Amino acid sequence: MLKKHMPKSSNSKNILKHYLSDIVYGANDGIITTFTVISGVYGAKLSSVVIIILGFVNLFADGISMGASRFLSIRAGAIAHNEDRGILEPLYHSFATFISFFVFGLLPLFVFMLPEIITRPYIISSIITAFTLFFIGSLRGIIVKKGRFQGGFEMLAIGGIVAIIAYSVGYLINNLVQ
Ligand SMILES: [Zn+2]
Repeated sequence: MLKKHMPKSSNSKNILKHYLSDIVYGANDGIITTFTVISGVYGAKLSSVVIIILGFVNLFADGISMGASRFLSIRAGAIAHNEDRGILEPLYHSFATFISFFVFGLLPLFVFMLPEIITRPYIISSIITAFTLFFIGSLRGIIVKKGRFQGGFEMLAIGGIVAIIAYSVGYLINNLVQ
């Protein structure tokens, strides 16, 4: 029982394959939630400093929450199926989820930290997010056997819609409270 949850061998391709769904789901959530926070703050016309602070708050808080949920769901699944998966196995998956969330979530955020080089960070951030979402979505499409392009376009659409909503909410609330 325990065996089927371990990488087939210790070569890097098998290890990557074993953690692929953690990486894809973590990346997906990391980039969407971080870009949503960025869009909301940008829509509210607040400074890049606020974007950077709230972006990092999201990377740590939501990232740890995702990793912890992954840990608990594997433990719960193991108990439900009467399997012994130990502590380390769920921990590895939870760590892979967190790292992926953090690294991919950093992609739309880091451009705001280079004001001397990037003068219009929101546009650059949107382009990076769109390309990455399409790439992650197409990987996810392969995992759920939906097809590469459908998966890519779906993820791009979801990311785009939530970013527009976040921007609009930021813009409206800013107008209401100022
Ligand atoms: Zn595993």
